[in-house]
Amino acid sequence: MRRPLLAGNWKMHYGVSEGVALVEALSADLTDLNDRDVVVCPPFTLLGSLAPLLDGTAVALGAQNMHYEAKGAFTGEIAPQMLKELGCSYVILGHSERRQYFGETDELINRKAHAALANGLKPIVCVGEVKAERDSGQAESVVVGQLRGSLAGLSAEQLRSVVIAYEPVWAIGTGHTATPADAQAMHARIRAELAALSDQATADAIIIQYGGSVKPDNVDELMAQPDIDGALVGGAALKAADFIRIVRFK
Ligand code: PEP
Repeated sequence: MRRPLLAGNWKMHYGVSEGVALVEALSADLTDLNDRDVVVCPPFTLLGSLAPLLDGTAVALGAQNMHYEAKGAFTGEIAPQMLKELGCSYVILGHSERRQYFGETDELINRKAHAALANGLKPIVCVGEVKAERDSGQAESVVVGQLRGSLAGLSAEQLRSVVIAYEPVWAIGTGHTATPADAQAMHARIRAELAALSDQATADAIIIQYGGSVKPDNVDELMAQPDIDGALVGGAALKAADFIRIVRFK
């Protein structure tokens, strides 16, 4: 019922030539996908070069961040419509690195989510606890608070265009993946909260990705969980063979 979504977050990696080589390798291989969606999210500076290469392929284009305003005196920022114009269909919002290093709050992420949807972009809204919060038994309450804050005021119809990425911060870039059982438990809790924010049918339609050291050798087990509908992949999305294997999870 839910179409899996595999997303690559390239973070601040790659210039144009490396990015072109990677998307050419991906789009040449991923020609036979009919039961899953794929998106790559390169740095802003590559979007204009990669969009024409991905046009008509099975690989969609996304950005890693955006501002919520349409235009104005916001030096260094990128507006939703600018991403749309370049061919983006997704935008990652509230990644833990944005929260941690750039002070992004749930309130800010919420404004961005509204702006993304108003401009026809599907937001991939990231939530997840840090290690101390998990160790002290607060993981669920932290994630639920992030969901409520980031998704405030969105209608059920809008929520159907939102993707949630559960990314335990202690698992990002560390090689320490959440166990499939722990990830599933949090995904089920997230879906219950989405139902509380809208209704069960809406919650059942929303894609909830897992992120945090997803690799070729752990993706199958994670994707076998009933409430894990995809992956947000950092490091392993930078190598064509690894990302292709992840996209081709069994
Ligand atoms: C991420 O960047 O969102 C991420 C999950 O990174 P990694 O796969 O490298 O842990």
